[in-house]
Amino acid sequence: MAGLYIHIPFCAKRCLYCDFFSNTDMKFKEPYIDAAIREMELRQEYIGGEPLDTIYFGGGTPSQLQQADFERIFEAADRLFGTSSCTEITLEANPDDMTPEYVASLRNLPFNRISMGVQSFKEKDLRFLNRRHDREQALRAVGLCKENGIQNISIDLIYGLPGQTLEEWQENLDDAIRLEIPHISAYHLIYEEGTALYKLMEAGKVTPIEEDLSVTLFSTLINRLTEAGYLHYEISNFGRPGYFSRHNSSYWTGTKYIGIGPSAHSYNGESRQWNISSLPRYLQGIKAGIPDIEIEELDINTKYNDFIITGLRTMWGIRTADIRERFGEEKQTYLEQQAATYLRQGLLIRENDTLTLSKKGIFISDGIMSDLLWV
Ligand code: SF4
Repeated sequence: MAGLYIHIPFCAKRCLYCDFFSNTDMKFKEPYIDAAIREMELRQEYIGGEPLDTIYFGGGTPSQLQQADFERIFEAADRLFGTSSCTEITLEANPDDMTPEYVASLRNLPFNRISMGVQSFKEKDLRFLNRRHDREQALRAVGLCKENGIQNISIDLIYGLPGQTLEEWQENLDDAIRLEIPHISAYHLIYEEGTALYKLMEAGKVTPIEEDLSVTLFSTLINRLTEAGYLHYEISNFGRPGYFSRHNSSYWTGTKYIGIGPSAHSYNGESRQWNISSLPRYLQGIKAGIPDIEIEELDINTKYNDFIITGLRTMWGIRTADIRERFGEEKQTYLEQQAATYLRQGLLIRENDTLTLSKKGIFISDGIMSDLLWV
């Protein structure tokens, strides 16, 4: 089975912290949809004819598209890849796009999962982040999805904002729990170079929170949500049983996926590919029939490293038998040696032949993973 990711590179306005590829000029919408369909035709072979399990519209802001736009894309996806085997079709949406009419229109489309960029239920956070929506719109959007029969809802939350207190973060989590949202992705605010937020930090106008508070916010996130019955199935992702993101899980389990649109990534087990992060160059390449793509062929060491990084992020961990089977005895022995200290320190856990991060280990996952990599 394989995944299809379609990047919608438009946003009504840019958020302070965002480094995703998007632009605010909707005049390119029609040419872009034509190009995305053409790209699917040109790159149809990349996933080797495997049936699609998931489709994910990400962005950017996919909810800037209308029913007729999605119909064209779905028609092409069905014609080129076949969509009848899909079990999960996700739309990323901004809460303020989710008007009653818009949510009702989604019922005419095959979406069965909505992932909403709520980020916070606090007005001051939303204003700081330069989000378009307010608290009321976020609450209304969740309600409208449920009224229209969409139960499989995910929200994104951001924590670690300058000046954020532990109480404010707890209240955000409590709102999400009270709303009975079955899936939550929560990310620490990152100061990505090139973003407006980064410039504010450089100018001394905002100050990142202290490391100790970051750790407290992360442990509060884990404790609060697990106590409420969510499973912490990936470092930043929590879901009620039956509501894990199949599409994102496929990234962590080595499933093939093809990414369509500027900045989209693809992976088919043998190579990774990145589409150019420029709309004009993307459109030009597609028009010429030569998609502007960077390709990395994966050697065995890179495949092993990918397997470690993606596997250890999840609650399913890494089976050492899989390492031997896929990468040979040398890599298995290496992994066992590298893992030994962390096992002794209780930062990794070994059950049967599976290695997972312990509750303590999750807090220093990057360091552990890098020590397990083949260099
Ligand atoms: S809506 Fe999403 S993609 Fe667009 S600027 Fe904001 S965070 Fe970035």
